[in-house]
Amino acid sequence: MMTPESDPPVILVVEDEPAMHRLLSLLLKANGYRVLSATTGEEASIRAAETPPDLVILDLGLPDLDGIEFIRRLRTWHTGHVLVVSARNLEKDKVEALDEGANDFLTKPFGSAELLARVRVGLRNGAMASVSRPVIEIAGLRVDLERREVLVDGTHVSLTPLEFRLLVELVRHAGKVLTHRHLLLHVWGPDAVGRNHYVRVFMANLRAKLGDDATRPRWIHTLQGIGYRVDSPDTP
Ligand code: CA
Repeated sequence: MMTPESDPPVILVVEDEPAMHRLLSLLLKANGYRVLSATTGEEASIRAAETPPDLVILDLGLPDLDGIEFIRRLRTWHTGHVLVVSARNLEKDKVEALDEGANDFLTKPFGSAELLARVRVGLRNGAMASVSRPVIEIAGLRVDLERREVLVDGTHVSLTPLEFRLLVELVRHAGKVLTHRHLLLHVWGPDAVGRNHYVRVFMANLRAKLGDDATRPRWIHTLQGIGYRVDSPDTP
């Protein structure tokens, strides 16, 4: 909870459905956030330019312009966290939104506790994004970027250079969903895009070495048909 002296984080809610919009606004305000509202993409662009938000909650289906187009425009100048909320069974849209720079997504319907948890993660990641830290620790996993060293519960784990790069990409974006395309592009390079089996094979090897279980993950969560997410780092 925020102290009364600190400025509350600003959250822009972009949603055209009145009931959902009202619910999100009330929930966020009740939890101490300052809420900006927009019901169309154009309105959202204006609000964001007037008061740059710390976090954006974005419905992809907007009446005037596609939510993905809004992300594309926003990303030309804004690096804050974008949490997409969208209806079920639109995996293609979610992947596209993530590739265009959205950080995370929630599928409707969702619970308020889940939404608030994702908002806290988003705000924390946004605050940390500007600080580059040579050592990242996530619940017993320690990745030292300078010494290129990985420890699990204090025990050294030996990774190949490619497995290390894959792990670094995941932990450096902890809390963000990384699509198959993102991982192929940033770990293997542009020629590998489309070869999703690379990711599957190396992810399985990486998990085996870390002792992470895909069915009951400790760090690396699979988002079926979309990509992977690692939980947020421990706060320093
Ligand atoms: Ca909508």
